[in-house]
Amino acid sequence: MTNINGKVALVTGASSGIGAATALKLAEAGSKVGIAARRTDKLEDLKKEIVSKGGEALVIEMDVVDPASVEAGVKKLVGAYGSIDIVVNNAGLMPLSDVDQFKVDEWHRMVDVNVKGLLNTTAAVLPQMIDQHSGHIFNMSSIAGRKVFQGLSVYCATKHAVAAFSDGLRMEVGQKHNIRVTCIQPGAVATELYDHITEPGYIKQMDDLAKQMTFLQGADIGDTIVFAAQAPAHVNVAELFVLPVEQG
Ligand code: NDP
Repeated sequence: MTNINGKVALVTGASSGIGAATALKLAEAGSKVGIAARRTDKLEDLKKEIVSKGGEALVIEMDVVDPASVEAGVKKLVGAYGSIDIVVNNAGLMPLSDVDQFKVDEWHRMVDVNVKGLLNTTAAVLPQMIDQHSGHIFNMSSIAGRKVFQGLSVYCATKHAVAAFSDGLRMEVGQKHNIRVTCIQPGAVATELYDHITEPGYIKQMDDLAKQMTFLQGADIGDTIVFAAQAPAHVNVAELFVLPVEQG
């Protein structure tokens, strides 16, 4: 088993949902956690919760779309704690709509955050991990990175991109640099993700979905991330496909 007590983790999109819950779980397992997002008030609240439970956290204001912001955040974390052992590339958004509604700004935003943001963070942490000859990168894909759903064309494209990139990254940095890469593919999780949908038809569809099943909690995904991070050093849990029992 890999002991992650004392290890240093960076979680992007830690101000809510899966990211916040995962940061808490990593901290409970003894990791020092850099909690990154744009809403620093939420991050300060999370830090208080982590510290009240005996953990350690560093608030990092970060816009993953901006490479300079990401690099500054990573520098701050390494400056404070001396290494980066675990990265959870989690920041993302999902404003659903049909393509013929031409919500082009929302498409661009999804590509910018879900794909380019994840690449920015990866580029910022990899040199440190390569120097260390160790590290574990978690990339947040989705069930939408395995199959395509109507109304999610662009979102699915971004999450398929994350899955493809994770596979390639694992092949390139696994053996050569001793860096593990895990692609996470959750089904429905109860978070703020659904609050950003602007299309009334899809808002209703998501409300109906929530009535049909018990969604996962962010903590459920946090638990699976801790499980993979704690796997023995020679084990790379390459994929985690985690669904509510009632989601087919
Ligand atoms: P939330 O909306 O609760 O969290 C999204 C997080 O992303 C927030 O912390 C937000 O922080 C952050 N974020 C958004 N834009 C940026 C940015 N430009 N820079 C930095 N951080 C940013 O949703 P979830 O917790 O559900 O989503 C987390 C990830 O999980 C996403 O990648 C999502 O696609 C994925 N996912 C979610 C599922 C679900 O059903 N909920 C299912 C499968 C995958 P802030 O606004 O403060 O910057």
